[in-house]
Amino acid sequence: MTDREVIGPGGRVGILGGGQLGRMMAVAAAELGLSTVILCPDPASPAFAVAADKVVADYADETALAAFAEQVDVITYEFENIPAATVEFLAERRPVFPPAKPLSITQDRLIEKRMLTTHGIAVAPFAPVDSAEQLGDALARIGRPAILKARRFGYDGKGQAVIRGSIDPATAWQELGGVPAILEGYVAFHTEVSVIVARDRDGEVAAYAVTENRHENGVLAESTVPAAIPADLAEEATAVAADIAAVIGHVGVMAVEMFVVGEGGRALLVNEIAPRVHNSGHWTMDACVCSQFEQHIRAICGWPLGSTARHADATMVNLLGTAVEDWQRYAADPAARVHIYGKAEARPGRKMGHVTRLTPLQAAARPAGSADEYGQAELASDTAQAESEAEQAH
Ligand code: AMP
Repeated sequence: MTDREVIGPGGRVGILGGGQLGRMMAVAAAELGLSTVILCPDPASPAFAVAADKVVADYADETALAAFAEQVDVITYEFENIPAATVEFLAERRPVFPPAKPLSITQDRLIEKRMLTTHGIAVAPFAPVDSAEQLGDALARIGRPAILKARRFGYDGKGQAVIRGSIDPATAWQELGGVPAILEGYVAFHTEVSVIVARDRDGEVAAYAVTENRHENGVLAESTVPAAIPADLAEEATAVAADIAAVIGHVGVMAVEMFVVGEGGRALLVNEIAPRVHNSGHWTMDACVCSQFEQHIRAICGWPLGSTARHADATMVNLLGTAVEDWQRYAADPAARVHIYGKAEARPGRKMGHVTRLTPLQAAARPAGSADEYGQAELASDTAQAESEAEQAH
């Protein structure tokens, strides 16, 4: 199997990581006639329930990795904190997408920020911090409030601390665990947006409509599409995401999270790149011709990229912790699509599922990523009809 071979129906996709992203990828693969083998150290992984096969093993277990590679035609991952050595080991045996380069860049916040500035892409002011003393110097330069972020292994706001007021650098440094970090200026943003973009093995790119995101305590709470930003800014955000995908040599789906800043909210700062399918792209499952999950499978298997056209506007809400207990209320809403991840324990803040509520596509907001030729008018009026039926039922 070479990096160029098309993996058609009947092929097998290996996925590292067994969380909800792996689960939704596995379902999308199944719809294309492909099957999946999932490797994850956690025997209770929610993705196992929908995969053809599973390997319960540590990411450093070379015997298990070799056996896993034997079973599949191509390998991908659902999260970016896969050890580089694991990817190298697997890449000697099977094609791995995204390749090692985008992974190594996006695993380290400092390398990622430097790559962005090298390519003229605006980011918040930042400085590397490897000691309490360096943190003091960086704070003097960047000012307060600022955010100290671990360079590696952070997600959902973990491994970061806001530094305000009088907290002294030594304490802040200790609280983060004394790990290599970066200090970032605190951005007073108008709103946060993200762009989900796919790049195939030939460098073709397809982007979804820009999504507006609201976070709570560093965790995504809600995504709305289209983002309430000017059309030219949405175009710029899309172009920036496509540029980044090309620069890092990405293959598959990736997300670029950005802050909307400046007077009247007309400028962008890139916050973070996720080299994978992303929570802020879940709405594509219900509002687009081809979901981000199918798109990722298509890109890594050498299929043509699917249409990113949107047939409805949408708001996606994460069901965190016990919020999942409201599933019946959401299930009763005819404009809502309910997705439950099958996790046994609803720990506080844990992503247990999500709900996407569809509304008719607004003609005034038809950005790139929506198109007439996919019958959006009919679908939009279906949604409107469903909504009016729902209203009548209440
Ligand atoms: P991150 O893990 O970097 O994506 O950060 C998680 C969330 O924390 C972001 O989506 C923002 O809501 C917030 N955040 C991160 N960095 C900054 C910053 N430099 N200024 C203001 N808010 C931030």
